[in-house]
Amino acid sequence: MDPNLERLISLHDLDIMIADLSRNDIRKEEEKLGLSPDEAQKELRQLRKELCNKIEKRLLARYDRLASRYGNAVVPAIQSRCSGCLTRLPTAMCSDPNRNERIRTCPTCGRIIYWAD
Ligand SMILES: [Zn+2]
Repeated sequence: MDPNLERLISLHDLDIMIADLSRNDIRKEEEKLGLSPDEAQKELRQLRKELCNKIEKRLLARYDRLASRYGNAVVPAIQSRCSGCLTRLPTAMCSDPNRNERIRTCPTCGRIIYWAD
């Protein structure tokens, strides 16, 4: 897999975890386990910062634009469809054996696509 694509997927996961830790129900669960959601959020933000330093500026700007527009900037292709907007993706894109070896975007919504297989 393209290393930048891998980093963008991790960034997306981190952003979900950071957002989850702001939710009251999840905070309560964490506290019940004796964990500190504030501490965890701080650590995740630090990891995010380190990860962002390794991502090309241009790609990061695209990610931020997509994330603020849609919430999810990086989505898996499911049954040859973009799981963000559900549009069928071009066959050539899906059947390419090296499809995860570069950054590909959905021609309809522009989200960054990866294949989880
Ligand atoms: Zn799409």
